[in-house]
Amino acid sequence: MHDGSCLCGAIRYRVTAELGPVTACHCTQCRKITGHYAAAVPAPWDSVAVTGEVKWYRSSEAARRGFCPDCGSYLFWEEYDGLVYLMAGALDGETGLRMDGHIFYADRGDYYRAGEALPCYAQGRSGPEIEP
Ligand SMILES: [Zn+2]
Ligand SMILES: [Zn+2]
Repeated sequence: MHDGSCLCGAIRYRVTAELGPVTACHCTQCRKITGHYAAAVPAPWDSVAVTGEVKWYRSSEAARRGFCPDCGSYLFWEEYDGLVYLMAGALDGETGLRMDGHIFYADRGDYYRAGEALPCYAQGRSGPEIEP
């Protein structure tokens, strides 16, 4: 079981399904809506209980994206097949999940590379570095 929420807390959800690996999507739509790229994990809709009013944006013929109308957090990508993709960053606490692949990588921004070794600061850039 996992809980998730938006930044302001107006939308919360609980998912009871076993979650698989997280996929990173670098497509143009995910870039625009997140400001970088999306990392998401699929779950059957009937295993997800949402509280709060999700605002939906129909981003293509086949899918819509759900976000919090108050704080703007991007929470859900739904293809019309009974699955919802939960944005992994909105899951609360330890998830026990791993990201295992990148899709639409050809569409990524040119300012980063997947798996690139970069310094990792515990908090801000003025603080200590920690292991990636
Ligand atoms: Zn919110
Ligand atoms: Zn995408």
